[in-house]
Amino acid sequence: MSIRQTLKELAADARDEIQSVELQIETSNRTLRILRMCQQVLSEEPKSETKCGLVLEYAQKSQWVDCGECTECGETFSGYRPNWTHCPCCGSKIVKVEKEDSPGDRLARNAVREAVAAVIAN
Ligand SMILES: [Zn+2]
Repeated sequence: MSIRQTLKELAADARDEIQSVELQIETSNRTLRILRMCQQVLSEEPKSETKCGLVLEYAQKSQWVDCGECTECGETFSGYRPNWTHCPCCGSKIVKVEKEDSPGDRLARNAVREAVAAVIAN
């Protein structure tokens, strides 16, 4: 084999090796990024759970459907069931459920909401 031919083949081998090493570095860097992300997520403090109360509207939409309002996110919803443990809108843990005791009375409703908020705060 001529010197020229030998050098040409060695150069091709070197090019292949360079590509292989570049690929390894790229893979290692990706693995490193993923591991750093994992480490960061694992070292985060557990998120504290928010708590809420539900205020069930005085007037039921039907005999079977209770409508309520979450004290945490303020969303209203229908179809409340007594076995619910978390607000369907914001995921807060339900710690107190109150029922309005007069129809359409804003003041009573706010009083109930404040009472529920006080229970949660304690
Ligand atoms: Zn909510």
